[in-house]
Amino acid sequence: MILVQGKGVSNGVGVGPLYYYRRKSHSIVRSSITDPEAEWARFKAAQATAIEQLGDLAEKARADAGDEAALLFETHQMLAEDMDFEDAIKDQIFEEKLNSEAVVTDVAAQFAEMFASMDDAYMQARAADVKDVSGRIIKILSGDDGDEGIASDVPVILAADDLAPSETVQMDKSKILGFVTAGGSGSSHTAILARTMGIPAIIGVGDALKPEYEGREVIVDGGTGEVVIDADELTRSTMMKKREEQLRLKRLLETLKGQENVTKDGQKMMVYCNIGSPDDVPAVKVNDGGGIGLFRSEFLYLSVDDYPSEDMQFEAYRNVLSAMEGKRVIIRTLDIGADKQVDYFQMEKEENPAMGLRALRICLTRPEVFRTQLRALYRASAYGKLAIMFPMVTSVWEVRECKRACKAVMNELAAEGIPYADNVELGVMIETPAAAFMSDRLAQEVDFFSVGTNDLTQYTLACDRQCNNLGKFYDPHHPAVLRAIKMAADNAHKYGKWIGICGELGADLEMTETFLAIGIDELSVSPSAVLPLRNAIRMIDAGAVRPGILAKLEGSVE
Ligand code: PEP
Ligand code: MG
Repeated sequence: MILVQGKGVSNGVGVGPLYYYRRKSHSIVRSSITDPEAEWARFKAAQATAIEQLGDLAEKARADAGDEAALLFETHQMLAEDMDFEDAIKDQIFEEKLNSEAVVTDVAAQFAEMFASMDDAYMQARAADVKDVSGRIIKILSGDDGDEGIASDVPVILAADDLAPSETVQMDKSKILGFVTAGGSGSSHTAILARTMGIPAIIGVGDALKPEYEGREVIVDGGTGEVVIDADELTRSTMMKKREEQLRLKRLLETLKGQENVTKDGQKMMVYCNIGSPDDVPAVKVNDGGGIGLFRSEFLYLSVDDYPSEDMQFEAYRNVLSAMEGKRVIIRTLDIGADKQVDYFQMEKEENPAMGLRALRICLTRPEVFRTQLRALYRASAYGKLAIMFPMVTSVWEVRECKRACKAVMNELAAEGIPYADNVELGVMIETPAAAFMSDRLAQEVDFFSVGTNDLTQYTLACDRQCNNLGKFYDPHHPAVLRAIKMAADNAHKYGKWIGICGELGADLEMTETFLAIGIDELSVSPSAVLPLRNAIRMIDAGAVRPGILAKLEGSVE
């Protein structure tokens, strides 16, 4: 048995023979030309065919994996006719009198290098898109009808050095049981497509998978990142059991898509998703998330090595809002500090960073950082249904300062003639005991609450969430935590506001009855937890369990 460890980027267990993806090598013939006009026309014809093919691929992707996947090929269409790209090709054809195949190869290499050298991880990943689009044009120019792919009659686990998005989507999915790539990144479109199509995928195995393994049985676990070749009996039966269980659950849950999150006795719950980047949106859609309940915006700050600009943030927020097509998107303002340290903020070292200058405290002491983010958020608000929430709130004055900062940004944008929505909901996270105790006052200041149970547990029980030897002392089910949630819920409802839960506890199915009994209006969970949660909600008779749960909560003793 050979065990190879990679990074799982799309969940699920797949088993089948290992197959290496075969790419035809397109050796480019470089030749001089005498008639640049004719060569330019030849390029334009190939470009038009590529654009047409990409349109067909967009439609195929839309049918297989939804609008977000289709958008990728629509973006490729735009790249294929990008003016700078086209101008550079024209100049070289006319100046260097070289054939189009050679010119497209050279120009694409320059553009790919330019993208690859950018600081922003998203832009770096675009280098692969340029190579993908230019490869298509070159193939057309060389009269290659391209029959590369999977020459196997049986479904396989597909191994490759890396896969371009167009390669991924064009493959016959009925032949693919899993992907394993030597390189790749979790935010690459190939990883996104694999997640969206529900195919297990593992990236970054390096050169551990040898071509001589082809044909041998391999089991991949896209959850753990394990690739096992010729598994021994025990490993095989354990992984196959896991696979069976996942498939059974998946079949059951698929039937729940499009259904309401409603209890047997008619109590509704909004089930939203937690995301860390625009790349997570397809998973939200595939899993039927009703909205985004927590976009951890700090991941944008963590992925770069200098302050993200207003434009960069605006683009990320706008992408999420447009992709969610009018469904509510709650973006949390910057929550760094504690475990999420960002060097360029140059924060002073603290003895107790979880209780230090973090999250909203940084925003309120560095107004320029806050203003940049709020401007990006309000600019993006014109593209969907935005709600903004503030983390680590303890006092009413903090919320008032936030509201003043929002107002100032709206005034600036209005003066600059930049559109924004004037109905952006503002909310606070309930993740400190102070916020729970002050929830009657806070409810009068904002539109909604969202309970961060990870931190609320930490601060209520004085248990460091990072500390791994606290065991049962860090107990999110502790009655003190549940009472704090109930207090916040009662106060929210008293003032006609709604309350959600976006900490990990929201997906804990043991707690679903309790949250329904308390009257929680929204649960925000990871995309893969949406359907299991819907399933649980639909099996509960909330009215019947409420009295017992509330009595226990009021009178609970440890
Ligand atoms: C929480 O504290 O529960 C929460 C959702 O925020 P984070 O985990 O990002 O601190
Ligand atoms: Mg938190």
